[in-house]
Amino acid sequence: MVFASGFSRPARAAAKADLPSSTGQTRAAQARRALLEKICEFIIAHDLAVTGPNLATVCSALSGSQPELAGALVQRELSGEPIDQAWLDTLVQLDPDGHGHIAALETLSEKLEYTLERFAQTAREAQSETSDHRGAIGVQVEALGSPVELTQVIDLSRAMLARIEQVEAAMVRSEVEIDRLRENLAQARTEADVDHLTRLPNRRAFERRLVSAAIEARAKSEPLSIAFCDVDHFKQVNDRHGHAAGDRVLCALAATFREMAGEACFTARHGGEEFVLLFAGLGKQAAKARLDAIRRALGSRVLMNRDTGQPFGKITFSGGVAEVTEDADTRGALARADAALYSAKQQGRNRIELG
Ligand code: GH3
Ligand code: MG
Ligand code: MG
Repeated sequence: MVFASGFSRPARAAAKADLPSSTGQTRAAQARRALLEKICEFIIAHDLAVTGPNLATVCSALSGSQPELAGALVQRELSGEPIDQAWLDTLVQLDPDGHGHIAALETLSEKLEYTLERFAQTAREAQSETSDHRGAIGVQVEALGSPVELTQVIDLSRAMLARIEQVEAAMVRSEVEIDRLRENLAQARTEADVDHLTRLPNRRAFERRLVSAAIEARAKSEPLSIAFCDVDHFKQVNDRHGHAAGDRVLCALAATFREMAGEACFTARHGGEEFVLLFAGLGKQAAKARLDAIRRALGSRVLMNRDTGQPFGKITFSGGVAEVTEDADTRGALARADAALYSAKQQGRNRIELG
């Protein structure tokens, strides 16, 4: 078989090395001669006319410069169908510019693939950029035209385009979901530090603040004081007016502490009917004075039960104050403030004691 045997020694490979042989010819010259011989054999074996287009087609196939053409010839040979002029003409018609038809398709596909690849990558990296690339692919699909042979490529492109749009939409959904989760997380973190009834910072938040405020106060060489406050006879409020009314009283007390303690004061609900205040920049005497002012103001107010129109009676609290910066350890100050509060209760309530 002329074609098959000729193709078993690719002339292109031999032409790569231009070295003199034992007969004095360069290998390139030998390869050119070998190629010409194979072209002649092929033309004669298949009884083809010696024309420019025929020679060009056979040369392109046998030299290996157009592997697609070579592949088409091999397929034809294997099928047992004749390699005659009529069939050769169909090959030439498909490739009028001398560029391989299949190669052109491949180039288009490659371009398309590259564009899609870039698009997909861009979609992953920056969602906002993807719309430009989608437009570019749309243009490419349009540019492919409508010959029957290209239909599949166009269909494939459209399918891929649709897939990218799906991925894009999924990414958008993911981003929205991530944003929502982030918000939920931030909200949960905030909520974890807030007392649900009074909306004051809770004990957890207070304990963290105590540590950071103590470090800051020591760094600035400024005083920091703490006050424990406990509502007097609060159980009676619940007993006389009900738990819900008791809750409202706690909220009113929280608002009073928050309003009167001042900007530099961190006020928290420590639990139950107990509140804790951190006075940044105030020594224990100044803190005691500030707290006493709150106590007096509260004592002069008459809180009403809005459900019944009945007064709650006099709502008072007792307090114990200690200076955090007197100790190296915050626990010492907490214990002294607690002991001072106990002392205030012992001495008849509605008073502030120093620890
Ligand atoms: P004392 O002057 O000795 O502090 O007397 P007290 O009645 O305030 O103290 P006691 O510890 O005997 O009672 C505290 C009460 O506070 C009992 C409890 O039901 C009430 N309490 C704690 N937390 C809440 C709350 O969130 N809402 C309401 N309504 N009551 C609460
Ligand atoms: Mg108590
Ligand atoms: Mg109490």
